[in-house]
Amino acid sequence: MRYTTIAPRFVEAIPDRLEDGVLYISERYGTAIHKCCCGCGEEVVTPLTPVDWRLHRRGDTVSLSPSIGNWNYACRSHYWIRANRVLWAGAISEREIAMVKARDKAAIEAYVEATNHRKPESVQKPSWLTWVMQKIRRWFG
Ligand SMILES: [Zn+2]
Repeated sequence: MRYTTIAPRFVEAIPDRLEDGVLYISERYGTAIHKCCCGCGEEVVTPLTPVDWRLHRRGDTVSLSPSIGNWNYACRSHYWIRANRVLWAGAISEREIAMVKARDKAAIEAYVEATNHRKPESVQKPSWLTWVMQKIRRWFG
């Protein structure tokens, strides 16, 4: 049975037994987990990090982005969680899976790139050194 709604439950730690139709969110561990909304019983872990999923809270409702694509499971479910509702996508093709994986890879690369650009000043070659080297070359060149 496919679920069309999911209820957020904020928890300290993830319980051993998960209830159907509940999105467990542990802000402490920066992760969310729920049983696949198709009813297959698989547990879907969605880490809440800049390169994984983002949780949007509005009042008592939550949304997750991007979509949940369970292509590693037999059911291959694909859905969005928007304001506690489960919005089902059509069955996903191999091509779409490849596209989403490529996009994930690009997102991770962009994130790493952005992080690398935030190096501390000392790591970068100081501009005054370049200036002094130019002066020296001009004096002795
Ligand atoms: Zn499933």
